[in-house]
Amino acid sequence: MTAGNPRGVKHVPRKRFGQNFLVSSGVVAKIVVTIAPQHDDVLVEIGPGLGALTEPLLDSLDHLHVVEIDRDLIARLRERFTPERLTIHEGDALKFDFSILGGKQHSCLRVVGNLPYNISTPLLFHLAEYADQIRDMHFMLQKEVVDRMVSPPGGPEYGRLSVMLQYRYEMERLFLVPPGAFDPAPKVASAIVRMIPRPVSALAASDPTVFAKVVTAAFGQRRKMLRNTLREMLTEAELAALGIQPTARAEELGVAEFVRIANAANALTL
Ligand code: SAM
Repeated sequence: MTAGNPRGVKHVPRKRFGQNFLVSSGVVAKIVVTIAPQHDDVLVEIGPGLGALTEPLLDSLDHLHVVEIDRDLIARLRERFTPERLTIHEGDALKFDFSILGGKQHSCLRVVGNLPYNISTPLLFHLAEYADQIRDMHFMLQKEVVDRMVSPPGGPEYGRLSVMLQYRYEMERLFLVPPGAFDPAPKVASAIVRMIPRPVSALAASDPTVFAKVVTAAFGQRRKMLRNTLREMLTEAELAALGIQPTARAEELGVAEFVRIANAANALTL
């Protein structure tokens, strides 16, 4: 497979759109097997690019949605696929309303993508707004980002991204992809991650906004003790009463402990 196109003119990859195209047919096949598309799935691919994943996904699907920002790539996709098989949503995935894709009624939307690495974190936070409509997500991301997403407490990789995503999703790093699988080759290794939203009934934060605020404050100055970073929300005694060491640092707390702190802080403001 090459980063070519049906018109024979090579697309020049655009750095500003994070374009690193998959060119390893072995890796593409492995990703598609991992996703295991079924013909009637409601599936959306973010950033189809030159179609490296789009085409093999469509081999198993009746229909596929894609969201792409690059007009040149959109024109190529239009030449190659009919609108009956492929619905192309032109624009920025960061602003895209994923609820229009029909996952609303059944929590059935499947999301996949070899994501533009420059917007991966904001995109993950944007998608979290639709998590109750999503069945699963499979993404290629920088290995370093995936490691932060799935990290347990205690290490330098554990942070706001880990806590916020682990609260909302079951996540698993599936396999690594070397730079040579892309054109142009990125400087770093990549990894495939699977994200499955937890049922709404399992989400214990009484106010998700307060939960997010607590996590952001705690990791804002991650070397500081919680009695300092959370001072505006809970006193040292209130932290201790929750079974949380006021002298602990954010990286020592698990997701359930952040939920406990957030619910106590929320109860105090009611
Ligand atoms: N899926 C293709 C592949 O695997 O070869 C392309 C992957 S490339 C890493 C990222 C793709 O996302 C590019 O097609 C790029 O134009 C597109 N993209 C970048 N920023 C985007 C955005 N904000 N919204 C939608 N698509 C975007």
